[in-house]
Amino acid sequence: MNQKGTLIVLSGFSGVGKNTVITQVLAQRPDIHYSVSFTTRAPREGEVDGVNYNFVTREDFQARIARGEFLEYAEYNGNFYGTSMKVIRDNLDRGTDVLLEIEVKGAAAVMAKMPEAVSVFLVPPSFDELSKRLHARGTDDEETIQKRLAIARQEAKEVKNYEYIVVNDTVDHAVQEFFSILTAEGCRKERRIHLVEGV
Ligand code: 5GP
Repeated sequence: MNQKGTLIVLSGFSGVGKNTVITQVLAQRPDIHYSVSFTTRAPREGEVDGVNYNFVTREDFQARIARGEFLEYAEYNGNFYGTSMKVIRDNLDRGTDVLLEIEVKGAAAVMAKMPEAVSVFLVPPSFDELSKRLHARGTDDEETIQKRLAIARQEAKEVKNYEYIVVNDTVDHAVQEFFSILTAEGCRKERRIHLVEGV
């Protein structure tokens, strides 16, 4: 186990600031592999194919499902999202930590398949704050925002299945909490017992 990378599963309500936190995390830990998901959603302003997501058609996505390429996939708000199995396995086997940013159904599938994964849910300081952030982002119309808030209320019921909850009040604070979790996970006896074996 001490040779293998850690799989980190991060989820959070739409608009909670996952991308901002992840950008900061990766800036400080460029050795972490960020898993670029496949999606059938259209790119948002500023999103780059192959960087934020691999943007594919529904047909392409279905073909990948049929070929068994996904560790997990889920439908969210009318679009498909999925994680490539091979990229994850290759990185973990190489000893590289891997960060997945996925919604709750996909996260549950990953936790069932890979129970050693570390699961983290990012929450806003309050639900009101989440609504404010979604409006401030200005990327979605009111109907989409209301849909995202309704999804968030459903997702809130699943948060108890995660091991850790990080509060995104300020980005710096959230990033600090996230790194504290990684530090603690790295200190687990399973990863360190070899240091005292055979002494
Ligand atoms: P967005 O459209 O806002 O980028 O993402 C919508 C939701 O899809 C987010 O909750 C995000 O975490 C989730 N998501 C992104 N990639 C994946 C993936 O590969 N698998 C699953 N299950 N969810 C994903």
